[in-house]
Amino acid sequence: MKAAVLNAIPGQLEIEDIEIGEPGPREVLITTKAAGLCHSDLHHMEGKYPHPCPAVLGHESAGVVEAVGSMVTYVQPDDHVITCLSAFCGHCEECLSGHMSRCELKATELVRQPGEPPRLHRQDGEVVNQFLHLSSFAEQMLIHEHALVKIDKDMPLDRASLIGCGVTTGLGAVFRTAKVMPGESTAVIGCGGIGLSAIQGARIAGANKIVAVDMIESKLELAQAMGATHIVNASDTDAVAAVKDLTNGGVHHSFEAVGAKVTAEQAFEMLRRGGQATVIGMIPVGTTVEVHGPELLDEKTLTGSNMGSNQFRTDMPRFIEMYMDGRLRLDEMISKTITLEEINAGFEDMKSGHLARSVIVF
Ligand SMILES: [Zn+2]
Ligand SMILES: [Zn+2]
Repeated sequence: MKAAVLNAIPGQLEIEDIEIGEPGPREVLITTKAAGLCHSDLHHMEGKYPHPCPAVLGHESAGVVEAVGSMVTYVQPDDHVITCLSAFCGHCEECLSGHMSRCELKATELVRQPGEPPRLHRQDGEVVNQFLHLSSFAEQMLIHEHALVKIDKDMPLDRASLIGCGVTTGLGAVFRTAKVMPGESTAVIGCGGIGLSAIQGARIAGANKIVAVDMIESKLELAQAMGATHIVNASDTDAVAAVKDLTNGGVHHSFEAVGAKVTAEQAFEMLRRGGQATVIGMIPVGTTVEVHGPELLDEKTLTGSNMGSNQFRTDMPRFIEMYMDGRLRLDEMISKTITLEEINAGFEDMKSGHLARSVIVF
């Protein structure tokens, strides 16, 4: 099958023919129909987060089940699925307390064990590493049954793929991590795919004020279309002062969807008393975030959110219903559909910062 392989870090992806295995007892073979390009793929290509090479990246995808292992009962061939990197074991303390996105055993239990053949390899037998249990930049995926959710066949699979990472991360940060209440004020820093999803989450949750902060005017316009009530262009304005000004002294909830020290610190600084800043973006390894100590006396909270603290087997079908009834807007979030061969150009577009989301359609 064709796959986009990362052979060196930092590096670009190379389209190669690689081999994929047969499903083990609890594995599912999926024909990939759509895969979104996410910033976390780029972070790994650029070496901001480590990963062994060669590897097939990609982790935001939807497809159709091709074959299932002998013990799989949840899905069968022809079922439509969304994949999720928040694969869960189902029996560790985190899973059993409802925090499957924090599963402690996924790295050891949900992968092929030593002595078993790899899921992905080259014709000469060299192992090709799987990325985040998924590796979506390929015509097929071989994944654990706990890394997918079955969905309604009426749901278009290109839209569905976005729910696999960015949309769930943004909506989940609002609904599950921050638990925004109707009437509260919010600010979202960074209006890419994840920030726009957080803005939509704040609108759906019933926030009164939703201030979108970005440095690119076209993204701020899109943010307004998604539900932002106010916009702040941080290229020529002090974002913290502007947000405080618009929200009577600070927001109840801020969301950082950039992944940088300065914006994480701004998210904390723009809070009102008792407010909570949720950092969604991936801050590079080795970076420290600082807060002004005395502000902790105002009972402000700075927290992270991983994949929107999701329970994806229940969350994702709900998000699809929100799309179907018109509350969740996904059509506008796909800025461009591309082929697998165009993937490097897609990441160049992402670096320019002007597009919300490029999606590979197979
Ligand atoms: Zn992602
Ligand atoms: Zn677990």
